[in-house]
Amino acid sequence: MHMKICVLPGDGIGKEIMIQAEKVMARIADLFGHDLEIDHALIGGAAIDEKGVPLPDETIELCSGKDAILLGAVGGPKWDELDKAIRPEKGLLGIRKAFDLFANLRPALLFPELKDASLLRPDIVDKGIDLLVVRELTSGIYFGEPRGEEIRNGRKFAFNTMIYSEDEIERVARVAFEAARKRRSKVCSVDKANVLDVSQLWREIVIETAREYPDVELSHLYVDNAAMQLVRDPSQFDVILTSNLFGDILSDEAAVITGSLGMLPSASMGLKNPALYEPIHGSAPDIAGQDLANPLATILSVAMMFKHSFALDKEAMAIEGAVKDVLEKGFRTGDIMSSGMKQVGCDEMGNLVVQAL
Ligand code: NAD
Repeated sequence: MHMKICVLPGDGIGKEIMIQAEKVMARIADLFGHDLEIDHALIGGAAIDEKGVPLPDETIELCSGKDAILLGAVGGPKWDELDKAIRPEKGLLGIRKAFDLFANLRPALLFPELKDASLLRPDIVDKGIDLLVVRELTSGIYFGEPRGEEIRNGRKFAFNTMIYSEDEIERVARVAFEAARKRRSKVCSVDKANVLDVSQLWREIVIETAREYPDVELSHLYVDNAAMQLVRDPSQFDVILTSNLFGDILSDEAAVITGSLGMLPSASMGLKNPALYEPIHGSAPDIAGQDLANPLATILSVAMMFKHSFALDKEAMAIEGAVKDVLEKGFRTGDIMSSGMKQVGCDEMGNLVVQAL
């Protein structure tokens, strides 16, 4: 298969982890007979330094003709004092908007080899954590109008609007049902339908959409209960489908219970290409340039890319298997290090995954 990919390393550890991801992509292309066409472009602080803006037009143009985008991370103290409108994070929001990436997929998977890293009790962790949060990403309260601040009767008021249209709910629900079919065929939709009108519509449309997926089991939870269930027994979840605000919070909660930020990939998808793949962690300026970063979240983002953008499940499974293999052999970067294991740097971890492949 011919694959067109745009690589955006970004800032901090972005460059180091992306080198490892590219090694893995090249190895997969060799092994499975694919043909990779890779371009590189600037985003975040690196783009501000060279072009004065966090998301230059050239980057959007270069990404436009591609099947997928692979992103490292953006941001760092160097750019923290800049005006909010041109901060590195604007690059991320901009690229999501440019390609209408309305569905954010965040798996929270705890490799059994890393179960000591989990913050939960061993008896809970023993049941396993392997879930996927599908979060609506381009609508809801973060984008709803009207929004703002005003003076009413001499007092300051501030307000935002939580709003969804039926088609916005339906398209993200479809992503969740399709994803569930590739997993354990269960979707739990999370809302606050006992209080919010917007959640009542959410639930109604999710139920309607579910009729086309009779093979997928649908359940519903209120968001407060979902937050509790995630720490009480995360093994009950397969796919969690939720709106932008609730998904922001629940996907971070799901990530932190696995205890390993450096291990978790993500995908953001629209109705057409390119989709965007990135690790969930940031640019880790505290360890940048020291060969200390864990590249596995980015390498697992490559696996997600093969699965979701190219429907190459075998290639994705080969990468996931190689990561598991390296962990089973006891190799760890500093962030997931525990006693008796062998500590390696970012570059060596990348090489080990390539060898395991
Ligand atoms: P962070 O995720 O960069 O780092 C948090 C902690 O985890 C740090 O101690 C870091 O060293 C460690 N860490 C993160 N990823 C790691 C990895 N792969 N291997 C080993 N250790 C890792 O979050 P932060 O410190 O809050 O933010 C730093 C910068 O990153 C900020 O400018 C922030 O805005 C930005 N940020 C970017 C993204 C993104 O690009 N998607 C996400 C979050 C934060």
